[in-house]
Amino acid sequence: MSMFSIYTKSENCQKLTSDEAFELINTSNNDLSELLDYANRLREKFFGNKVILCGIINAKSGKCSEDCSFCAQSAHHKTNVEEYPLLSKEKILQAVESAKENDTGCFSIVTSGKGYISSSQEMERILDVVKDISGVKKCASLGLLSLEQAKKLKEAGLEKFHHNLETAESFFPNMCNTHMYQDRIETIKNAKSAGLKVCVGGIFGIGETAKQRVELGMAISELDVDSVPINIVHPIEGTKIYGKTQKLEVNEVLKIIATFRFLMPNKVIGVFGGRESSLGERQNEIFKAGANSILVGNYLTVKGNKAEDDKQMLRELGLEPVSEFK
Ligand code: SF4
Repeated sequence: MSMFSIYTKSENCQKLTSDEAFELINTSNNDLSELLDYANRLREKFFGNKVILCGIINAKSGKCSEDCSFCAQSAHHKTNVEEYPLLSKEKILQAVESAKENDTGCFSIVTSGKGYISSSQEMERILDVVKDISGVKKCASLGLLSLEQAKKLKEAGLEKFHHNLETAESFFPNMCNTHMYQDRIETIKNAKSAGLKVCVGGIFGIGETAKQRVELGMAISELDVDSVPINIVHPIEGTKIYGKTQKLEVNEVLKIIATFRFLMPNKVIGVFGGRESSLGERQNEIFKAGANSILVGNYLTVKGNKAEDDKQMLRELGLEPVSEFK
């Protein structure tokens, strides 16, 4: 099928087949500008020049029981990551205020750990913080979540829950052995059933094939999520994947972003972890590839660009940060 025909399907929000998505992700470098032109058109059609800036706080760090191969916070890995229990309400609210100064539209409280929020005190503190956050969209990323917990978070005013699938189902056992892909699907469904919006993405460069990238994109599209963060692995010494990660070329990263834009034309596609390290000077091209969200400030265990540099990049591109798309 021609790229134009695939674009036309996508523009009309018709579901693409895996084969069509595979054609896109396999676009040759010679045809890359055509792919990016179409992806850019889709972004502009559905979102104009609006972008969402997200901010996060690593509110509980390290000592995670899980063994995700890329993660510095896993207790299975010997990394130099800082470890601390759930931060106080004051510290989290301070971080929200700093994020607001960076035009952050959506702020997420992120905790390490398998999830099912480990104690009732933790749950109470998180609910209490969520109630008091104002001026940004309220998001949380707390690992696996039961339906009952999701309902409590929703009642407290949480708007969105973030939970990545991370990778394709067929590659998942290579990435993690301590929980199942299905556990993640269940959590996303629980969050949706409770009325929360969901942010579901993945990480690339951990050994998956192009087919598996498409498999992940198709699975996320099937879940009908609200936003999709794309992360590129940032190899951290001591993790299981260290020394074995794929070095993704910039063009390859742009093809992943563009393919996800085609697969989910009217959803928010973000480029989060690994943006600086994988794209360097070419970070501004992610928007042409169809992205309309970035994470500003620091990541969970790695420092990001200076927020002012990101804002300058957006100004140069004529992009306007908003907290939601009307
Ligand atoms: S990605 Fe999440 S669940 Fe996996 S090891 Fe890291 S903190 Fe734990």
